[in-house]
Amino acid sequence: MNKSVLLVVDDDPQVLAAVRRDLRSKYRDAYAVLSANSGAEALEAIKELKARGSSLAMVISDQRMPGMLGVELLAQTREIYPIARRVLLTAYSEIDAAVRAINEAHLDYYLSKPWDPPEERLYPVVDDLLDGWQAEYLPEAKGLRLVGHQWSPQSHAIKDFLASNLVPYRWFEVTRDTEARRLTDAAGIEDADLPALFFEDGSVLRRPEPRQVAERLGKPLSAAFDVYDLVIVGAGPAGLAAAVYGASEGLQTLLLDRHSPGGQAGSSSRIENYLGFPNGVSGSELTRRAITQAQRLGAEFLAPLEVTGTAVEGGYKHLTLADGRNLVARTVLASTGMAYREHPAAGIAEYAGAGVYYGAAVTEAPAFAGRRVLVVGGGNSAGQGAMYLARYAKEVHVVVRRGGLRETMSHYLIDQIEKTPNIHLRTFTEVQKVEGDGRVERVALGCIADQTCIIEDADALFVFIGTRPRSEWLPPEVLRDAKGFVLTGRDLLAAEAFPRVWKETREPLPLETSVPGVFAAGDVRAGAMNRVASAVGEGAMVVRLVHEYLQLV
Ligand SMILES: Cc1cc2nc3c(=O)[nH]c(=O)nc-3n(C[C@H](O)[C@H](O)[C@H](O)COP(=O)(O)OP(=O)(O)OC[C@H]3O[C@@H](n4cnc5c(N)ncnc54)[C@H](O)[C@@H]3O)c2cc1C
Repeated sequence: MNKSVLLVVDDDPQVLAAVRRDLRSKYRDAYAVLSANSGAEALEAIKELKARGSSLAMVISDQRMPGMLGVELLAQTREIYPIARRVLLTAYSEIDAAVRAINEAHLDYYLSKPWDPPEERLYPVVDDLLDGWQAEYLPEAKGLRLVGHQWSPQSHAIKDFLASNLVPYRWFEVTRDTEARRLTDAAGIEDADLPALFFEDGSVLRRPEPRQVAERLGKPLSAAFDVYDLVIVGAGPAGLAAAVYGASEGLQTLLLDRHSPGGQAGSSSRIENYLGFPNGVSGSELTRRAITQAQRLGAEFLAPLEVTGTAVEGGYKHLTLADGRNLVARTVLASTGMAYREHPAAGIAEYAGAGVYYGAAVTEAPAFAGRRVLVVGGGNSAGQGAMYLARYAKEVHVVVRRGGLRETMSHYLIDQIEKTPNIHLRTFTEVQKVEGDGRVERVALGCIADQTCIIEDADALFVFIGTRPRSEWLPPEVLRDAKGFVLTGRDLLAAEAFPRVWKETREPLPLETSVPGVFAAGDVRAGAMNRVASAVGEGAMVVRLVHEYLQLV
């Protein structure tokens, strides 16, 4: 089989030879290291690789080259090989300019010259980027293939499940792809059996549920122990951080999620404000790193498993799972975050998964290449969604009830949106109705100022508004505010019901709820900051408090 390619580009023959030599000495068994001495030559080589069906894992390019700058080459590389890792090689004196260029072209990294010793300054970066690439890359003839209808909610559910659980797969739309027909005909699959998931060994799951897919992929769904020191419900950033710290600090730790690791952050196309990632990081990449870290340190992870109820007996917490099983824990962390509320417009519920998507921009964007889509909402999640969709869709209309984005969206995203010609901002507007034949085809948009209404064609609606806390699985003794967010620590003292439920002589610990030993962190908690970093911080903090609680009982 052909090796995947690492391409090095530099107009300085000495630098080119040195990078090539260093890369070959470490990666030659697994990758073919090719080189080019100009942007134009590199682009030619990249096109040729594509025509031959070869895979390109990484391009490392010098910035200052006559004819074509490194960033230009790397931006064009993405059009041909969207997931190839792209690294800019730059002189120390040009780092500021390089960082600016990187932000604009969304590159993966910059390396400053010289990179000696490569063991410290080159290989760790390249290893890390290649790990990320490997996790996303799926060789042509290998892996999972999902065949279904674009407008089927079941197809969307399986796509979303595979993508959020970081399982690479190929999607074939049955009415468009000839490969889809070949697969279904060979396996005798009728339209009523779709979506169908084809495995490498030739076996097929027809109309599968996410749980069946998880089982078939060998993901564990049963807990290994009878009792845990800490059960973490919800594997978003807060839960993942708690799992990392819990496991590394010697607690028997179990992490559960009803869907997949990553939570809301996992659905983000690019998180630009998380410390330590100057070029931003995609939600799936951050999730991949965090779940690998938690499991390596000894945390057990089970998904999809939903917790539906909790009861406390003799200090032990008994969690009920949606499949009827029970788990026992000495302490519990509620890190179940928030979920989007259903949009109230007429007809919208009918098209969920058939053109109406809650979040999910990353999963569905490629299916809307060349089409006209709407993003509903003016927050950062909507801004990121719009930017991602704009890479594929012909037109992206951002619909907001307010007069602009300034009050609700970060400045950097507003800037990016303003510079993206196929994104159009529709202010003082609301979605009133969705119509179509089996899928979204038209929307009725109301003008808030003069109450007029227009009907426009649209292929999809991505909804990013209205969130609600996912706290319904907690018992009534866990006090919440009027919106359902969980009260913790000293905030509980002001709650009217607190003296009735809290029977300890001590005050609740910070992040402890009104039930001793049940903690809450991240977006589900009243007063949370709704940021990845704050959720991670609270998740890490909880583990100290769990130790404190366990010493008290
Ligand atoms: C599209 C998008 C982009 C964003 N971009 C940024 C950004 O750039 N920067 C930033 O700082 N913040 C960003 N945010 C906000 C940030 O992602 C959240 O603040 C953060 O994810 C909250 O983390 P959490 O762990 O508290 O909860 P969540 O991320 O909401 O995770 C909760 C998890 O709990 C699981 N769960 C829920 N109920 C149950 C149950 N009963 N049983 C088992 N599991 C359950 C869910 O499946 C989910 O995985 C973004 C949010 C979105 C939606």
